[in-house]
Amino acid sequence: MSRPPKSRRVEFLPRLTYFKPAGVPLRELEEVGLTVEELEAIRLKDLVGLEQEACAEKMGVSRPTYHRILTSARSKIAQALVNGKAIRVEGGNFQVVMRGFRCRRCAYEWELPVGQGCRGELLCPECNSAEVYRTDKQGSSLFCERSPQTAGEEDAEKEVDKAE
Ligand SMILES: [Zn+2]
Repeated sequence: MSRPPKSRRVEFLPRLTYFKPAGVPLRELEEVGLTVEELEAIRLKDLVGLEQEACAEKMGVSRPTYHRILTSARSKIAQALVNGKAIRVEGGNFQVVMRGFRCRRCAYEWELPVGQGCRGELLCPECNSAEVYRTDKQGSSLFCERSPQTAGEEDAEKEVDKAE
C-alpha cells in the first residue's frame, strides 16, 4: 500500500483488534489487514450513519480520499466474511483526536485520546475530584499514533482449533 503521508483523524481506537472465524484451524487461516482509519471510515458511515461529506470532514480528508478508504475497508471485510478469513486491525496512517478535560474543583486541565475517560469514572489527576467536564473543541489538538498495540493479542488466538 503506498499512500500519501498525510494522516487521517480517528476518533475511535479499537480495543479488539483480531477477529477470527470459528472452526478454522490456525494454520489454514488467512488474514486480511484492516487499518485503523479503514475501521474508522466504516464506523462513521455504516454504524454512526453520517453522510460521506461529514465523514470525510471528520477524518480530515477529501471526499474522494474518504471514498477510497471506505471502499477498501468494505472490500476487505467482504473478503473476510465470504472467504472465511480472519481480520486483523492494525497500523495505518492516522492521528487520534484528543479531548480536553477540566476539573471544576481545582481547575486542572488535561487531555486524553478519544475513547479514554469518556465512559464515566474520570477523576481529576490532581485532586481526585469527580467533578470533571470536557473543554475541547473537537479536533483542536491532535496527537500522533502510527503503530497501535500489537502485544497481548496473541493469547486470544490460542483457542480451540479443533471445533467441528
Ligand atoms: Zn482537580
